[in-house]
Amino acid sequence: MNERKLVFVVDAMYGNLAKKLRLFGYDSLYYADIDDDKILQIARDEDRILLTNDVALVKRSLKQNVKTVQITKKDELEQILEINQKYNLGKCVVTGNNSRCPLCNGMLHKIQKDLIVTQVPEGVLKQTNEFWTCENCKKIYWEGTHQILMEKN
Ligand SMILES: [Zn+2]
Repeated sequence: MNERKLVFVVDAMYGNLAKKLRLFGYDSLYYADIDDDKILQIARDEDRILLTNDVALVKRSLKQNVKTVQITKKDELEQILEINQKYNLGKCVVTGNNSRCPLCNGMLHKIQKDLIVTQVPEGVLKQTNEFWTCENCKKIYWEGTHQILMEKN
């Protein structure tokens, strides 16, 4: 069975959670400033799981049969676990081939090393052979030793 991958819309205040979900490869919309009607409409229209800590919004959302997870924890990994209790996220891995751009939710595509030599620090070029670029914002990513996914303008 080929299940559709979960997709999310993340309420204001949870930008870091949205970034983490994108790194795990989940299509996650985030708006720093959005009103309840609008975010509900997006969740409904695009069949996205709404992530919010707003009790009133959770009530409205569930009444409209929108998939909803109330986020209560502060730490992003604990928030991921809160989601996982309700919707199975499966194995969460961060790799260039799976992740989405944490900044804009765009898909990452592999890019040839010789196309980005002028845009990446020399030290990185020496140690790294695989690079990805975001189809939207064109940021460049690679898998670093300390940070899993690094970015460069
Ligand atoms: Zn991007």
